[in-house]
Amino acid sequence: MSSNELRFQAICQVTERKSLPPKVPNRLEDLWATDVFTLSKMQACLPKDVFRSLKKTLQTGGELDISVAGIVAAAMKDWAISKGALYYAHVFYPMTNITAEKHDGFISVQSDGTALTEFTGKVLVQGEPDGSSFPNGGIRSTFEARGYTAWDVTSPAYVMETDNGVTLCIPTVFISWSGEALDKKTPLLRSNAAMSKAATRLLKLLGHTDIATVNSSCGAEQEYFLVDSHFANSRPDLLLTGRTLFGHPAAKGQQFDDHYFGAIPERVQVFMQDVEEKMYRLGIPAKTRHNEVAPGQFEIAPFFEAANVASDHQQLTMTILRNTAKKHGFVCLLHEKPFAGINGSGKHVNWSVGNATQGNLLDPGDTPHSNLQFLLFCGAVIRGVHKYGPLMRAVVATASNDHRLGANEAPPAIISVYLGSQLEDVFEQIKKGDVQSSRTAGLMNLGVDTLPVFPKDPGDRNRTSPFAFTGNRFEFRAVGSNQSVSGPLVAMNTILTDSITWIADHLESELGQGKSLDAAAYAVLKEVMEKHSAVVFGGDGYSSEWHRIAVEERGLLNLPTTADALPMLKDKGIEELFVRTGVLSAKELESRFETYAEQYIQVIEMEAKLVMSLTKTLIYPAAMRHLSEMSGAIANMKAIGLSAETTCLEHVATLTTSLMEAVSKLSSGLDSHDFATTEDHMQHCAKVLRPMMDQVRVYADSIEDEIADDLWPMPKYQEMLFIK
Ligand code: ADP
Ligand code: MG
Repeated sequence: MSSNELRFQAICQVTERKSLPPKVPNRLEDLWATDVFTLSKMQACLPKDVFRSLKKTLQTGGELDISVAGIVAAAMKDWAISKGALYYAHVFYPMTNITAEKHDGFISVQSDGTALTEFTGKVLVQGEPDGSSFPNGGIRSTFEARGYTAWDVTSPAYVMETDNGVTLCIPTVFISWSGEALDKKTPLLRSNAAMSKAATRLLKLLGHTDIATVNSSCGAEQEYFLVDSHFANSRPDLLLTGRTLFGHPAAKGQQFDDHYFGAIPERVQVFMQDVEEKMYRLGIPAKTRHNEVAPGQFEIAPFFEAANVASDHQQLTMTILRNTAKKHGFVCLLHEKPFAGINGSGKHVNWSVGNATQGNLLDPGDTPHSNLQFLLFCGAVIRGVHKYGPLMRAVVATASNDHRLGANEAPPAIISVYLGSQLEDVFEQIKKGDVQSSRTAGLMNLGVDTLPVFPKDPGDRNRTSPFAFTGNRFEFRAVGSNQSVSGPLVAMNTILTDSITWIADHLESELGQGKSLDAAAYAVLKEVMEKHSAVVFGGDGYSSEWHRIAVEERGLLNLPTTADALPMLKDKGIEELFVRTGVLSAKELESRFETYAEQYIQVIEMEAKLVMSLTKTLIYPAAMRHLSEMSGAIANMKAIGLSAETTCLEHVATLTTSLMEAVSKLSSGLDSHDFATTEDHMQHCAKVLRPMMDQVRVYADSIEDEIADDLWPMPKYQEMLFIK
């Protein structure tokens, strides 16, 4: 079948597609965490002392008593087998954004030839997948292929049921033979522990004596697109790269705002309910769902959880979204910019820190100006983001997220902090050295008696800020939809650790000079604001004025592409930050730069190759067919003495020539290989290849808009986005 026939067939198939019948929803009580080996299940089946020991590790972050592992393993195996599992898998999170798993059977064959199931403490605690194919950024040579996985007790084991069977999944860290982190979980756990230690020290200085382990929390809002699989399957670019490399924008985009928060299409709602049921069974607290801004775009967000668990759950959510979509005849696109001209997808990472004894340490209460504890933690965040803004930018730097950041739909590539008017005012007062009051917002009266009068929020929202305070947490909005949330969480925990330590040091010294706690704290905060208030910005982050002020007057960095941002990981100050806090060694940090840089280069080069091949094999032939058909018709008309309009034809001919010239430039761009450093190679991708690809696209999209519809070989934007 030719490509244009494939396109028409897809349109017919999609038009006739029916949604799967909605399931009768189960009661939440019957679904919730049924597939998780929860604490209460462990309590029911483990000996009391074993359970107590495990629970202590969970609650205090203390060391795991390895002698209990065998007993836990046996109980875990029995539970998993009762759920139908014959296999178990250590699940880990390599430096790609994927989730990796290696499956092993519970089977153990005895000397007499009989087989029984076995799962020892040793295999629960440690696995040894051949890690040589995972990125390691130069930490290991291929001959040192060994990698270990080690059980992360703090994230519960679960069974994953798919059409292919049931597997017991055990969240693990993934480390090299020599003990270096090769994954995204190890640094997250380390950053959390470092943050807890630093926060505990500060809480002690503030006079607390009963201080539980401090943990970071995360609630990630996941945006995604759904496209019918018949369409996606006829678009090699969507299948291979997750985004459309070509496509003339449809006349209707998102300008009418008629999709955002609109009624969820029936087929999509059935899909969402299926996703949510799976999430509930896995103990993932799905909480909100709605249509997003762009046509075909949706969002799902869970209730927030402890960062490490939230991060594992986020990975699972992405897997569930992708797999469930297939069942419903969709392809779920998690790419940050699947379609040009309409909004892309992000993943807002909501983050706070707190514990069981002092609560949420980022909760300002009603009178933030007198809430010293809050001010110190919030001040610490401000300092951290100012000092390590380039790190915050680097952890959201990917080839795909570059399409979104700074494109007037997502925050700019300049990292600033939005506090809201009330807090901004409080911190301004602190900087001036005279703190009097917190502005109150008052009540909102809607002027209709039957409507309730409700308190206004003391600060509005600001969609244009990359990092915004939203009442009792910060929301990191620059994170990409396809990313693991771990990198951003590690960065936030680590800069907070550093800043709290700085604040605690200075507080101690002020107290040592005989100041009262209040006076000492305000003095330290004043210094923080004097040095770091340049990062606080409440205006329009999209405006060109802000881009100028940020860079010229405030000294903030604008790092528009990954090629500019990622090398910041090599900055001495950032290296020292990670080494000092114990979150990453210099070698581990370096390996991250190498790995992510390589991924960036690979993505762009792969896309460039596909741009060339799709142009040569699909778009150019379609244009030539159009030209040949039309010029034939025009010649015939002229032969019988009719005048014929030739402007359109000439236009397509010119576009086609330009298209092929652009492809040949791209081809020579791809042939350059002479780069002294990885940084140079990245710059080449950003500054040479990307613009060349864009140029090819400009001609191709214009051709799409000119030539006979029945010749066009790929589903068009209007079809993919509007035929449901
Ligand atoms: P919005 O779109 O208004 O930002 P959503 O309800 O879509 O709000 O998402 C907000 C996310 O923030 C949810 O995942 C929510 O559970 C999470 N969240 C709420 N409070 C906190 C907190 N203290 N710490 C971390 N995350 C939080
Ligand atoms: Mg939000």
